[in-house]
Amino acid sequence: MLVGLYQGERSELPFGHKNVIAQSYYLRARLVEVCPIDRDRESSVTRVMTLPPSTPMAIKSSPVMSDSTLSLPGQLDRWLAARHDDLVGVRRHIHMHPELSHHEFETAAYVARLLTAAGLRPKLIQRGNGVTCDIGKGDRVVALRADMDALPLLDVKNVPYRSTVDGVTHACGHDVHTTVLLGVGMALAQLDELGELPGRVRLIFQPAEESINSGALQMIDAGALKDVVAIYALHCAPQFPVGLVGVRSGPFTAACDSVEVRLTGRGGHTARPHLTADLVHALGRVVTEVPALLGRRVDARAGMSMVFGAIHAGEAFNAIPNEGVAKATLRVLSREAWREAPELVEQLIKDVVAATGATVDVRYTRGFPPVINDRMASAVIAGAAGAALGADRVVEAEVSMGGEDFAFYLEHVPGAMIRLGTGIPGIDVKMDIHQANFDVDERCLGYGIRTMVHTALAALSSPF
Ligand SMILES: [Zn+2]
Ligand SMILES: [Zn+2]
Repeated sequence: MLVGLYQGERSELPFGHKNVIAQSYYLRARLVEVCPIDRDRESSVTRVMTLPPSTPMAIKSSPVMSDSTLSLPGQLDRWLAARHDDLVGVRRHIHMHPELSHHEFETAAYVARLLTAAGLRPKLIQRGNGVTCDIGKGDRVVALRADMDALPLLDVKNVPYRSTVDGVTHACGHDVHTTVLLGVGMALAQLDELGELPGRVRLIFQPAEESINSGALQMIDAGALKDVVAIYALHCAPQFPVGLVGVRSGPFTAACDSVEVRLTGRGGHTARPHLTADLVHALGRVVTEVPALLGRRVDARAGMSMVFGAIHAGEAFNAIPNEGVAKATLRVLSREAWREAPELVEQLIKDVVAATGATVDVRYTRGFPPVINDRMASAVIAGAAGAALGADRVVEAEVSMGGEDFAFYLEHVPGAMIRLGTGIPGIDVKMDIHQANFDVDERCLGYGIRTMVHTALAALSSPF
């Protein structure tokens, strides 16, 4: 729906691009096929991965972007073809050296080294595990964000670039996000050198997306959104084949909070529950009645879902315990419903427990807000993806009930996130993120870079 709407406007250059670059990618809707990747071609990859830290790969001043007779898609094609093996090498290096949330020091240093080698001036945040890097000039900044942390899972893949860190692996594709943003930075740096970057772009490499103690908030506190008018990001999507991107306006991922309900009361014999608070019964009421009541107190279109994942109380079959606990997540797709949720949930729990005579203590912990893609920003990134990859490669993305801390940026500035197809053709195993064997078709790197370069240029020319 969104894509159709945008393409209807495309021929009219809806955002009034005044510069040749911005117009060129609107007018050239399709690129040639991304160079195919030989997944077994190890020599060049190994070369990159074994470079000592003091000699990051030479990425500056490649002549391929300097052919002014080519439009941007053509220039990008040539640039990507020349850099493809290096980019795969970067992704595999990060994949082999994953770091957990809040510990992304080596990854951040690696990112900063590569950006410096591209002639850029990256800035590390004070803790050293996040990086920002501005490219170009201008008062209005368009930000692009990648996350860098890995998950506490054992890498079970049998590949040469398997994780070298026991029990830690990039199973959410953040190695891909980081590599794509590095590639975008390098490409934009070259455009800037040629005087063809019509504004300022900020790359944001954040730590700790997988942590409830969000890295996005740390980057925002460090000033990452200063002068930013719009922000964009992508996430690996193994459900889409490589070469496709999924776009969507409005809710994209759910808010995710956690709720802990602790009950206390007099215990006793199961023969005489009337002399006790009967906590097991009380907990049973909480886990069934509270979600049911929410379904009547909150607009169904808010997409609220409260699901208990843990319940603990008692030991013996004939003894009523004097304490018990139940734990749930609360997910919701509406910003307004998310804001009202803590008070409402706490009140409903208290009301339900009041009838049982137990004493209740509710701990409601805020997680991430929902990602709500801005309408205009969604149109910008959908149009840019169509221009970068071809309109038939842009599909409608589904809403996910998972959480994503990109939402924190969107609480401050408009923006949009898309799904980048990473599905590997021909494998029977259904791949999902957060699976210990998660892997991608590395051609997604090229598709991601193209899409985000086009997005940055489109956003610089949009009226945000
Ligand atoms: Zn994840
Ligand atoms: Zn992720």
